[in-house]
Amino acid sequence: MTTVQTIQTAIQNQQVRFVRFIWCDNANVIRAKAVRTTMLDPFLAGNGVGIAAAQQALPVMYDALAPDTGLTPDGEVHMRADWATFAVLPYAPGHARVLTDIYAGDQPWSHCPRAFLRRMIAAAAVRDLSVFAAFENEFSLLRPTPDGPAPCDTTVFCQTAALDGAAAVIDTMTAALEAQGLLVEMTYAESGPGQFELPVRYADALRAADQQIIFRETVRACAAQHGLLASFVPKIYPDKAGNGAHLHLSLARQGVSVVTEPDHPRTLSAPMRAFMAGILEHLPALMALTTPSTNSFKRIRPRFWSGAFTCWGMGNREAALRVPMPDSSLPITNVELKICDATANPYLALGAVIAAGLDGIDRRLALGEAVRGDPADLSESERLERRILPLPATLGEAIAALERDELLLQALGSDLARSYLAVRRAEWQAMKDMSHDEEVRLILERY
Ligand code: GLU
Ligand code: MG
Repeated sequence: MTTVQTIQTAIQNQQVRFVRFIWCDNANVIRAKAVRTTMLDPFLAGNGVGIAAAQQALPVMYDALAPDTGLTPDGEVHMRADWATFAVLPYAPGHARVLTDIYAGDQPWSHCPRAFLRRMIAAAAVRDLSVFAAFENEFSLLRPTPDGPAPCDTTVFCQTAALDGAAAVIDTMTAALEAQGLLVEMTYAESGPGQFELPVRYADALRAADQQIIFRETVRACAAQHGLLASFVPKIYPDKAGNGAHLHLSLARQGVSVVTEPDHPRTLSAPMRAFMAGILEHLPALMALTTPSTNSFKRIRPRFWSGAFTCWGMGNREAALRVPMPDSSLPITNVELKICDATANPYLALGAVIAAGLDGIDRRLALGEAVRGDPADLSESERLERRILPLPATLGEAIAALERDELLLQALGSDLARSYLAVRRAEWQAMKDMSHDEEVRLILERY
C-alpha cells in the first residue's frame, strides 16, 4: 500500500475527523491547523495548508509582529505535510497529526526551520557523514491550586515515591509515546520538585527533531488528561534544579558509527573530536538557538549540573559537552550537549549544532583536554589559560554572539537569520526586566 492508502485506511478505521498540520515557529511555539478529513484530498496530493508568512515574525509574548523581521502581514506560505510523520493521536480522540515543511510557491521557504535542518543534514551528507540525535527532556509536573500551579511532589533524584505518586500519568505518557513510535528507554524522577525525565531512543537527525515536537505535545496533553500541567520551562523555581533538554549526538559514515576509533571503542575518533571542538567554538552563539529564552540563562549556572563553561569532560556533569561513560566493557556511543533546553526550536537548535560541528571538521579544530572535576573549582587564571570560558550570562549576550557568528548566520541564510534574530531580540527587550514570577507565568504554558 502507498503512504496515501495507509493514511486513508487509518483515517477510516480509527474514525479520524481532523488532521492537525503542525509547525513550530521561531519562538518555538508549536501550532497547528486541523483540517477536516473529508477535505483532505488536495493535501494528500501534495498541496499545502496556507498560513501567513508573518507567522515567523511572532515572539512568544503575543500574536503580533516583532519589528525588523523582513516579514509583513502581506504574504502567504503553505504547510506541506510530510506524510511519513502521520499518526493518529492516542490522546485526542478523532484527531491525527502530521508534521510539515513550509513552502513558498514550489520552493522550500527560506524561513522554514525544518528546511534549515534538512539543509544541514545534506551538508553533513556531502562530507559522507550522517548525524543521529536524541533530546533528553526534563519537565515539571504541576497541579492547579488556588495560588497557581504547584509541583505535584517534593521528591529528590530518583526517589521511588515519585514514580508511585505519578504512576498513572507517566504510564499514560509512555504508552502514548510508544503508540507514536517513540521508545521511552527509562523513567525516573529528577532532582527538582515534581520533576521527571523520560529519555527516548535516538533517531536520525530529522526524526530526532520531529520526536522532540511529538514528545512535548504528548507529555503536555497526557498531563492535562490527568488534571496536571507539564511544563518544560528551564527554570521555574530559582533555587531548584532546572529543566534541560540535553542533546545527545553521534556521527556515522556508511551506516557505521564513527564516534570512536574503529579498534578503540573507548577513544573518541578524530572527526568526533573536531565536531565537538566546533560546537565548543560556536557555543556562545549557539546558545541563542539552543537555550534561547530569557529564562534559559537562569538554568545555566555553575553547580547545577547544567554546564556553565566552554569545556568538555568524560562523564563530567559540570561540562557543557559530556561524553557519557558506559560500563567499561561497552563502547562510547555518543556525546551530550547540556546547553540545550525545550524552549529551543528543535530544528533550529539541531541544525545549528550540526553546522558548528561540521565547521570544526572542516577547519580540523583541536578539542583540547578534557576537564576533570568541577570547572567552577579551577582558579580564574587556570581557566583562562586552558580557554575554559564562562558562557554568555543572558539572552542579550547570546544574541550579540550570534550576530557576530558569520558561520552560523550563513548556515541559517539571511532570511531566517533576520526573522529569528528579530523575534529573539523582541523577546529580550520585552522580558529582560520582568520579575521572575511574571516571566514564568508568561511562558509556563507555551513550553
Ligand atoms: N537538571 C540538570 C540541567 O538543568 C541536569 C541534571 C542531569 O540530568 O545531569 O541540565
Ligand atoms: Mg537529567
